[in-house]
Amino acid sequence: MTASFPKLTSDANIGIAGAGLLGKLLAWRLSTAGFRVSLFDAASMSNPQCAAHTAAGMLAPISEAAESGPEVYTMGVYGLERWSQWLNELGTNAATCIHQNGSLLVAHPQDENELHQFLADTHKLRAEPGCSIQQVQSAELQQLEPDLSRQFQKGLLLSPEAHLDNRQLLQHLHEQLSLPQVSIYENTSVSAEPFCIKNKNTAERHTFDLVLDCRGVGARETLANLRGVRGETLHLETTEVILNRPVRLMHPRYQLYIVPKPDHRFVIGATQIESEDTSPISLQSSLELSSAVYTLAPAFAEARIVEAGVNLRPAFANNLPSVTDQPGLITANGLYRHGYLLAPAVVDHVMDVIQHTCQSPFGTLFKSPNNCSSNTTNLSSEPVYE
Ligand SMILES: Cc1cc2nc3c(=O)[nH]c(=O)nc-3n(C[C@H](O)[C@H](O)[C@H](O)COP(=O)(O)OP(=O)(O)OC[C@H]3O[C@@H](n4cnc5c(N)ncnc54)[C@H](O)[C@@H]3O)c2cc1C
Repeated sequence: MTASFPKLTSDANIGIAGAGLLGKLLAWRLSTAGFRVSLFDAASMSNPQCAAHTAAGMLAPISEAAESGPEVYTMGVYGLERWSQWLNELGTNAATCIHQNGSLLVAHPQDENELHQFLADTHKLRAEPGCSIQQVQSAELQQLEPDLSRQFQKGLLLSPEAHLDNRQLLQHLHEQLSLPQVSIYENTSVSAEPFCIKNKNTAERHTFDLVLDCRGVGARETLANLRGVRGETLHLETTEVILNRPVRLMHPRYQLYIVPKPDHRFVIGATQIESEDTSPISLQSSLELSSAVYTLAPAFAEARIVEAGVNLRPAFANNLPSVTDQPGLITANGLYRHGYLLAPAVVDHVMDVIQHTCQSPFGTLFKSPNNCSSNTTNLSSEPVYE
């Protein structure tokens, strides 16, 4: 553990800035461990603005590692297992929020080299124990997903991969936070400093034994090399299509996924644009997403577009997460497009730093030379403070 990071008593008072994915999860883990927690968010809980609300909720260590590297796979596989445990802890309703049916990659016949490229990119990964990338032909494709267009001749079934009903999950987490030792401050935009959270509008200061900064892209004011990466989604509703797992369309120009959600809903996503613009979805993006989904399953033609989502993924230069600690302040950020996948690794690591338990399996991954963690437990390029 860090020499500089003081051990807290179990009834310490902890302030968390940001009630998105990391903020809510840490509030839950800390309050369950007996700490008193105050959770601040700029938005209201009934109208969340976090990337976690916009996200598709895929837990896709293989698909993500193909683009992002082996650390994402290692932390992702850990995350998959941890989500199952956590959801069981959250109760029987929450336990149904995870669907572990793998995911399917398909390409139009003229683009099948995209599947070959994926196989080449994941060559090393396939040697990992438990990692399965199964080539499937049209008959098996039809068995797995009968509503997919019959034009698809080949696909890849990836396991272990899963998806979460993420909005329900956030709701279950929120319900857990109605414990007496948790105070929630909604519509409260704050800054985070060692031992202090400051209301930006009223300048009121709340002091704590420890502050956690989990503001996602909202922390750009102090983390100068954090950026937002725009992502756009469409939410469709139809009873004409049933999918059992996320389906990704591999395409040379854009990659699209469909993730099934409860109540005959589907999230179609997502664009990935190097821009911090949060204005509504563009015509081009909505055309690309909707025409691609129509080619995947023509029965989507009659689906209703019930929502178009836009949000920013918080990312550092190498698109990997970062946890830093100093007395009175821990920052956790940069979960990029893998927030749900990597959150268990990051949250358990933060808990480890706070509780001095030296159990984080990511001690080495987070580059700790001598101790079980370091005070710049940083997978990413070093955050720059302004
Ligand atoms: C379109 C899209 C699709 C995605 N799909 C997936 C997916 O399929 N799988 C996956 O694993 N990940 C996915 N992600 C990524 C995932 O959503 C993020 O990585 C994750 O939500 C980051 O968690 P966070 O807690 O750091 O930030 P957030 O979830 O964004 O939470 C930050 C919170 O801080 C609050 N805040 C900000 N500034 C302040 C302030 N000054 N004061 C108080 N509160 C503040 C915000 O209101 C927000 O509630 C997707 C993201 C997007 C945008």
